[in-house]
Amino acid sequence: MTVDSALRSPMNYSPSDKDVKALKFIEEMTRNVDFVQKKVIREILSRNSETEYLKRYGLKGFTDRRTFKTKVPVVTYDDLKPEIQRIANGDRSMILSSHPITEFLTSSGTSAGERKLMPTIDEDMDRRQLLYSLLMPVMNLYVPGLDKGKALYFLFVKSESKTPGGLPARPVLTSYYKSEQFKRRPYDPYNVYTSPNEAILCPDSSQSMYSQMLCGLLMRHEVLRLGAVFASGLLRAIGFLQTNWKELANDISTGTLSSRISDPAIKESMSKILTKPDQELADFITSVCCQDKWEGVITKIWPNTKYLDVIVTGAMAQYIPMLEYYSGGLPMACTMYASSESYFGINLKPICKPSEVSYTIMPNMAYFEFLPHEVATEASELVELADVEIGKEYELVITTYAGLNRYRVGDILQVTAFYNSAPQFKFVRRKNVLLSIESDKTDEAELQGAVEKASMLLREQGTRVIEYTSYAETKTIPGHYVIYWELLMKDQTNPPSNEVMAQCCLEMEESLNSVYRQSRVADKSIGPLEIRVVKNGTFEELMDYAISRGASINQYKVPRCVSFTPIMELLDSRVVSTHFSPALPQWSPERRR
Ligand code: AMP
Repeated sequence: MTVDSALRSPMNYSPSDKDVKALKFIEEMTRNVDFVQKKVIREILSRNSETEYLKRYGLKGFTDRRTFKTKVPVVTYDDLKPEIQRIANGDRSMILSSHPITEFLTSSGTSAGERKLMPTIDEDMDRRQLLYSLLMPVMNLYVPGLDKGKALYFLFVKSESKTPGGLPARPVLTSYYKSEQFKRRPYDPYNVYTSPNEAILCPDSSQSMYSQMLCGLLMRHEVLRLGAVFASGLLRAIGFLQTNWKELANDISTGTLSSRISDPAIKESMSKILTKPDQELADFITSVCCQDKWEGVITKIWPNTKYLDVIVTGAMAQYIPMLEYYSGGLPMACTMYASSESYFGINLKPICKPSEVSYTIMPNMAYFEFLPHEVATEASELVELADVEIGKEYELVITTYAGLNRYRVGDILQVTAFYNSAPQFKFVRRKNVLLSIESDKTDEAELQGAVEKASMLLREQGTRVIEYTSYAETKTIPGHYVIYWELLMKDQTNPPSNEVMAQCCLEMEESLNSVYRQSRVADKSIGPLEIRVVKNGTFEELMDYAISRGASINQYKVPRCVSFTPIMELLDSRVVSTHFSPALPQWSPERRR
């Protein structure tokens, strides 16, 4: 894809001036990667030269990459925590950034069970906006006519809090949807949403979902693309339709809004959309949904949908089969790769197979370095964006305008190709993530801690958890964590009661990180945790199986998370009892520490 080739597109596509400008920008960025990176680091280091952090490392006003790399260490969030905490507590001195930190973006990555706080400055919003502005011009190269209809996107805000020093702390998308840039975005025929802002901005996720779904149904013929940020969100929307279609059809047939909507702003905006009864549409929705046959439901209800706009790379790949089932195999477009720390890049071929998705990092967003992954040692040299090699895996390290310096993001990327001089990356995985349903990321240490805590409840009875493993069950909506336990009981004839086991489930949930608990409590995007108790000897069988497939007996370790079908089948065939968490764990927007 180049501007030239776009203009000579076989679709006879003649891009608008705006698209030409965006495509030219992409060309310029991808042709001059190293030059732009040099400029970015120079800008960051010169504007932040007086910050406490850079002064500490004796940068003395140097703005070149070599000095920066020799003097400033590569860090993780925990290394920066003291500085972050001071800013959160209200210290306004130039600690990390010369520009005032205006808010914290709460990452779905956690540290000590709480969301990480990522500093951001006012102008970062423009950088994010710039990346968004590139998406449709690229999409228009592949899918014509997207200005002739609307996008049904399920977008949500999440709860936010304030740090002790008074700075807002909220997820990056919540910050974006609440921004003036989003709320007052100028009319753009390529970005017309079925959902009114009022529905997107409603903090009650159930009212928000209901009204967004209702709008989508009312405008079903206009919908040309359908999506949510992540695959899990789109599946939740389908699940919502499955349980609420009668009420939605009733609203359509009567032309009145359900009493479950109490938000005045939504009521006001819906009064302009749901203006009269439409029995024909209500009958249609009923005829599709009442059969309880959900295969291809998306294309039945929204017949003009050209693709699903949804991220299905990384942890979200587990949802591809379900999305294929519901959409009858519509293409799934993964358009961008971003995080709370910084937005990174875009997919220049958005209509490709999920397994072929590669993201092109835009060199103007931040300064990027790459830690070779397979051979990483203390002495490993970090590689420049322009110098990464095809086929190799790297961990992403970034330096941002807001004051993260050589920060390890924790994502492992593999270089697949170059576009001009810009490398393109496949998202391989997030480091240290065992279980993930939605934005939650549970690592091995957290799971271990949760099992240990919960198993204390069995102690009185003399029962111990001798082995465990886990599984992200995503075939149900919402998905949930399944933990397999093998127990050693003092008295085999007296296993722990269902009540005690259910309490163990809840205790595990209480021990998991705040993103997990928020998803359970506020977003309802994760279902109750399940413990499946397996027969004694099951984990030995698991080991026998692994060894029969070539694992070394000396090095065998029990996998703490499983997804391989034969292993799942083995475990499930040995289950003696199943137990679910009976209640919601504790969660509040306030941080615990
Ligand atoms: P957060 O800090 O909560 O915004 O989460 C950002 C993280 O989400 C990234 O560091 C990635 O691990 C993951 N992520 C974001 N975009 C993508 C994508 N397109 N494909 C796979 N994973 C992604």
